[in-house]
Amino acid sequence: DGLIWFDGEMVPWREAKTHVLTHTLHYGMGVFEGVRAYSTPNGPCIFRLKEHTDRLFNSAHILNMHVPFSKEQLNEAQRAVVRENKLDSAYLRPMCFYGSEGMGLRADSLQTHVIVAAWEWPSYMAPEAKELGIKIRTSSYTRHHVNITMCKAKANGNYINSMLALKEALDCGCEEALLLDNEGYVAEGSGENIFIVTDGVIYTPELTSCLKGITRDTIIQFATQLGYQVVEKRITRDEVYVADEAFFTGTAAEVLPIREHDGRKIGSGRRGPVTEKLQQMYFDQVTGQSKD
Ligand code: PLP
Repeated sequence: DGLIWFDGEMVPWREAKTHVLTHTLHYGMGVFEGVRAYSTPNGPCIFRLKEHTDRLFNSAHILNMHVPFSKEQLNEAQRAVVRENKLDSAYLRPMCFYGSEGMGLRADSLQTHVIVAAWEWPSYMAPEAKELGIKIRTSSYTRHHVNITMCKAKANGNYINSMLALKEALDCGCEEALLLDNEGYVAEGSGENIFIVTDGVIYTPELTSCLKGITRDTIIQFATQLGYQVVEKRITRDEVYVADEAFFTGTAAEVLPIREHDGRKIGSGRRGPVTEKLQQMYFDQVTGQSKD
């Protein structure tokens, strides 16, 4: 139940529907965001709202989709779904998709529709994972080409590989997958960026094959503030195996330690001290924000 913002209006959850001939359903040309609102002493606050809306518009621009609303209208739509659904903390899903105005790749009558839904966030990891870390596995699927050339776009069609990789990892008793790029370098998780810590230096893959994560940006900023050197470079999977610490970042995953990779223990086999510091700083920031 609740309300979903749909093309400028609040619509009851059950009525927020689209036709089976919705173009994006067939061809995957669409863009979306994953955004979080956190409960804070000032009421619910949306973390990095402006950055997420900017990325949504950039994603649409990269895919040459016209968004028929302004950034400010979409910021307000996101605040409104949290407010009107009386949510204290939430996951928000803005999405732009082509409707059923035309079919086929040559359709030229397509209109971009925009929705923003919000719901209470169910954590998909066990609560102890934040402290103990998770087990990951290198995927047999690579981060595919569209994502390599469009690492700044969060596009619907990019998630086929992510889903296949994640299922493969889960079937092997792991909690997440690590996708490599087409050249065999570490790219990212199914929906997270990766960082490693070696000899006190923090490394993360450069933006050639991974999404420009907003949590990634935040963590780079925090780590720099704490005086760590942060290096964006190509990383091989054995550099992860021998790292002192490794962790994922993402709007959903937040800062999540990795304790094992392909059956090899990482560092001490649980959350390391640098990860813990950054995790705490991130948590303090999201739960102590002032109104956006
Ligand atoms: N990589 C992929 C493929 C993602 O889907 C996400 C999630 O949005 C991320 C990384 C992390 O990005 P962010 O920190 O902006 O959530």
